[in-house]
Amino acid sequence: MDTRNKGFNTKLVHAGIREDAHGSVVTPIYQTSTFAFRNAQQGANRFAGIEDGYIYTRIGNPTTSALEENVAQLENGFGATAMASGMGAVSTVYLALLSGGDHMVSTDSVYGPSRGLMEKHMSRFGVESTYVDTSDLENLAKAMKVNTKLVYIESPSNPAMSVTDIAAAAEIAHAAGALLVVDNTFASPHLQKPLDLGADVVLHSVTKFINGHADIVGGIVVAKTEALHKQIRAMLINLGANMDPHQSYMVSRGLKTLALRVERAEENASRIAPWLEAHPQVAWVRYIGLPSHPQHELARRQMTGFGSMISFELKGGMDAGRVVMDNVHLAGLAVSLGGVETLISHPASMTHAGMARESRLAAGITDGLVRLSVGIEDLDDILSDLHQALGHIGQVQQVEDPQLAGLP
Ligand SMILES: *Cc1c(COP(=O)(O)O)cnc(C)c1O
Repeated sequence: MDTRNKGFNTKLVHAGIREDAHGSVVTPIYQTSTFAFRNAQQGANRFAGIEDGYIYTRIGNPTTSALEENVAQLENGFGATAMASGMGAVSTVYLALLSGGDHMVSTDSVYGPSRGLMEKHMSRFGVESTYVDTSDLENLAKAMKVNTKLVYIESPSNPAMSVTDIAAAAEIAHAAGALLVVDNTFASPHLQKPLDLGADVVLHSVTKFINGHADIVGGIVVAKTEALHKQIRAMLINLGANMDPHQSYMVSRGLKTLALRVERAEENASRIAPWLEAHPQVAWVRYIGLPSHPQHELARRQMTGFGSMISFELKGGMDAGRVVMDNVHLAGLAVSLGGVETLISHPASMTHAGMARESRLAAGITDGLVRLSVGIEDLDDILSDLHQALGHIGQVQQVEDPQLAGLP
């Protein structure tokens, strides 16, 4: 069935399905490394690209093609390429679109390894980069150089939840002859379609909302044009960060309920965020659906919903963060996000504990910062879990600044 002019939910369920000889309703797992040719001529034609068909699973596999076609349609792109992980997607994009001597401008609060890969590794091959707060477009415009080939933004970004104007960023990039790449992981294609807003390439860690069930690591890149799609695919074939057919099957299965999951989690988050904002132990809340969020109006314009990611700051700082982490029962104490289950993390004592306090604060990771990925459980159960966990804070001595208190 051609789903290209059907609605988003119809695409989620039907787009890209590869029918087989038995009439299977979903695309089966083609668990094979290679595909036999009927004869020498067919082999030659496939390698020459004259005949469609599969050759070898690193180059392409029907189960993976089904997922790629589905996500390409969801993002309104020409084509998609699935990767072994979100970072597989980021690295393939960098290597496909940048060369030694090129410069990239990116969001300062971008996903840590996306920045680490650029600053620690791409730099060794002569690629320059500048990181700025892209929620203020003047910073982006000022950072552009004659050799800027790529503008790479994440919106909303993590954990600052800052929002960048995608259409305006595309104009700035294109005026300088650069491409715009958007990491759309936090929004998912259900809430934001960067290609429609002017971006050239969109990528996802499908580990998060697209798969949605916390049981797979994966990535995907969607290109707006055939030329860009071919460039990215050619890099992947050589790099080898391809998604495995079993992984592709799992993601296709999770993806069908994307809209249902995202809407349900947002319904919960939209009630939890104001509850947190009114809580006496909470200093501030960053949720793009709250009018207090600095880019709330922009998010309302360029997205169709506000999602389920909430950051908030505990007045009690580091100690309060540890107390909340040690007392949640329903919320899972884990990194990652976008799954059906509620997850909570405290970067200062967990993911960023090894960082010097000064640089951690400079990166916006304050002592009391808590990140919450709201799941699809019953609202009352999530709220009562947070209520009791936050209630434990008062039972310990509050320490605002562990350095002042002489703690490590
Ligand atoms: C998780 C994440 C990634 C990396 O994805 P992996 O699947 O963990 O490799 C990239 N960007 C964002 C915004 C993420 O949240």
